[in-house]
Amino acid sequence: MSPVIVPARAGCAVSVSEGEHVRVTTPRGGQAADFFAYNAHNVAEWLSPMHTWVSTYSIKPREGDTIRSRFRRPMLRLSEDGAGGCHDMMIAACDQVRYEEFGVEGPHPSCAENLMVSMRRLGHQIDVVPQPINFFTNTVVDAEAKLTSPPNPVPPGAYVELQALMDLICIVSSCPFDLNREGWTINAACGPTELLVEVR
Ligand SMILES: [Zn+2]
Repeated sequence: MSPVIVPARAGCAVSVSEGEHVRVTTPRGGQAADFFAYNAHNVAEWLSPMHTWVSTYSIKPREGDTIRSRFRRPMLRLSEDGAGGCHDMMIAACDQVRYEEFGVEGPHPSCAENLMVSMRRLGHQIDVVPQPINFFTNTVVDAEAKLTSPPNPVPPGAYVELQALMDLICIVSSCPFDLNREGWTINAACGPTELLVEVR
C-alpha cells in the first residue's frame, strides 16, 4: 500500500491485516496522532488503553508492549518506537465540547469527528468515541498526580510501528488542537501538521 498523507487536522482509516505492520510518522515533528483501532470483523471490539495498561503496568506504551482490546484480546504489538516513548494513553480525544470549554465559538475540527467521519466512510456508525492512544503526545503526571502537557519535544521524522495481531481497521487523526494554553500545548507551537501512515 502506498503511503497515506493525513492532512493537518484531518483523519483517515486504513485496513491492516493480521501480521502486517502500520507505521505512523510525524514528518515535521510534534504532531499528536490520535490512534484508534477496531476488529475489522466486529467493530464492537476496539482498542482500549485501560485494558492495555493493566496488563503492561505502564500508562505509556513501550516498545514490545501488547495493546489490547476492551475484551482484553491482543490487537497490536508496538514493534518499534522511533519517538523516544513520548506518547499518551490517558487523555480523551478532543471534541467540539472540549473546544467550547476553551472558549471557541462555532465549529472546530476534532479527533472525535475525524474518527466518526472516517468510520462512516466505511459504513460504520460510531456511537462511542473510544479512548485513543495519543502517539507523539507529551503528557506528564507529577508527584502530586497533576496532569500537564508541556511543549511537544518529538523531533521531525519520529515514528511508531505496530504489528496487527488480528485484522484491523486503524484510524489516525492529526489532532487539530491549536489553542495556546499554559501547560496544555499538545502540538508543536507552529500548530497542527500532517501525518504519514504506511501499511506493509
Ligand atoms: Zn485531538
